[in-house]
Amino acid sequence: MSPSKPQEAYPPGITAEEFKQLLSTIKDWSVAHGLTVRPPSTLIASDVDPHDVLATTAPVTIFPSPFPRICFEQAKSIQRAYNQLYASIAQDEDFLREIVQEILEVDEFIAELWQVHLKVKEEGYVQNLSLGLFRSDYMVHRDTQDTAPVIKQVEFNTIASSFGGLSAQTSKLHRYLSLTNYPLLQDSIPAQSLDLPANESTKSLASGIRSAFEAYTQAQSSDKCCVIFVVQDQERNIFDQRHLEYELQQGSTSIPVFRLPFSLVLSRTTIVATPKRQLLYHPPHNPSLPFEVAVVYFRAGYGPSDYPDRSAWDARIHIEKSSAIKCPSILTQLAGAKKVQQVLATPDHSSRPSMLSRFVKSSQEEIGDLSRTFTNIYPLDDTPSGLSARKLALDPTKCQSYVLKPQREGGGNNIYRSAIPPFLKSLPESHWKSFILMEIITPPPVHNMILRNGIIEQGGVICELGIYGTCLWNHKTKEVLHNEEAGYLLRTKGDKSEEGGVAAGFGSMDSCRLV
Ligand code: ADP
Ligand code: MG
Ligand code: MG
Repeated sequence: MSPSKPQEAYPPGITAEEFKQLLSTIKDWSVAHGLTVRPPSTLIASDVDPHDVLATTAPVTIFPSPFPRICFEQAKSIQRAYNQLYASIAQDEDFLREIVQEILEVDEFIAELWQVHLKVKEEGYVQNLSLGLFRSDYMVHRDTQDTAPVIKQVEFNTIASSFGGLSAQTSKLHRYLSLTNYPLLQDSIPAQSLDLPANESTKSLASGIRSAFEAYTQAQSSDKCCVIFVVQDQERNIFDQRHLEYELQQGSTSIPVFRLPFSLVLSRTTIVATPKRQLLYHPPHNPSLPFEVAVVYFRAGYGPSDYPDRSAWDARIHIEKSSAIKCPSILTQLAGAKKVQQVLATPDHSSRPSMLSRFVKSSQEEIGDLSRTFTNIYPLDDTPSGLSARKLALDPTKCQSYVLKPQREGGGNNIYRSAIPPFLKSLPESHWKSFILMEIITPPPVHNMILRNGIIEQGGVICELGIYGTCLWNHKTKEVLHNEEAGYLLRTKGDKSEEGGVAAGFGSMDSCRLV
């Protein structure tokens, strides 16, 4: 360790030569282990066929970021309660109807999702089992230097919760570097000196899908069943999905998995015209030898751009009304609306029991554990709490502490701080109720270096921890057949950037060094 450096400097200072060495190690390791994405078109030389450039290192931090152990444990320990909570919300049609009705006249996308539910309900649902591959996202919050850090929830994802495949690889990369490269730096980090928690997100998420597959096949006579991944056409994050797929296809209990672009759902699947309504997948190379679809895993369908025309909505209805187990079902997707998160978090000043106690029956302690992860979130409707939140949102000083969120997923949709008042004023007031206003969480400062598209960004960073959860439940009997915490994701972005989505191009993959 150089004498000018404080003993605990982390990440350590590194020389230009050490940088070079680390970068080449990271680039090769990532490609060799699938910590990769399809390259952005801007990175591909104009004289090269884009199909020949298949993979590049996913944006990743050079070191694992320090993360408070107490917060990591808190987030993991509460995941099963969160799984159960969202499974219960997804089963509460009355609650979801109330929420949707408030916003459907100004939010066409939410209205269409609800229509899918109503249409399928009319014909009658034929599958009672639902699968959730969830991810609850948090940032660290500290009231003062003297108080212990706690986690505050950013959002809860119920559809296309991504990066579980890449996240396990990122943990492995940092572990590898901690054994091979960090000990050799001038500011050496001795091998085994970092506390790097295991991360089995790929295996655990696959085991969630497997539990649904087994539940389906036990109940059916068909011996030729499969899982379908419904994907976007031009998916750059394909390797994240591939890891999950390969995990399902491994070993003696290998499950057939097929990737199906959302736009091809109606041409490659059919529904058997019996009361059971089995979904059949016809592989393009052998359409007359179909597989019965046990599980449909959506990695598409979460945003309006996936539904360019009516036929996309017809495709969603087609899947929803079949007997395949959906991950997620339409109601589970709607349970993940930001409006639901706000209704759970907004303090209830009336004499009614809090919204959480409607869904969490197990214990008061669990209600306390869950609600401690909430930060202030307000509606912007014409209720008393909505009207006072409008004042906060329009105030040029107070708005600096807030983020405005529409009912959308996938990153890049939020409005931050001083952009909120002009944005709201540009909309008719009748549309404001489709947004929620959330206090900005400001985690304690952390430093790291991010490798993105061959360029290093260095300085203050903000980390967001995601904990995966898998849950399989029966909404007729209310029975929960599988409920597990399923590993973690750490995403890190520069502290000047508001958004943190890796796929959206702002964030990077990271792993936790527990402190
Ligand atoms: P999406 O469903 O599009 O991912 P999020 O609610 O996760 O929407 O918001 C996107 C990003 O915005 C988050 O990953 C985080 O970086 C930032 N963000 C959202 N809410 C907050 C908040 N309350 N405090 C700080 N940052 C936030
Ligand atoms: Mg989301
Ligand atoms: Mg998010």
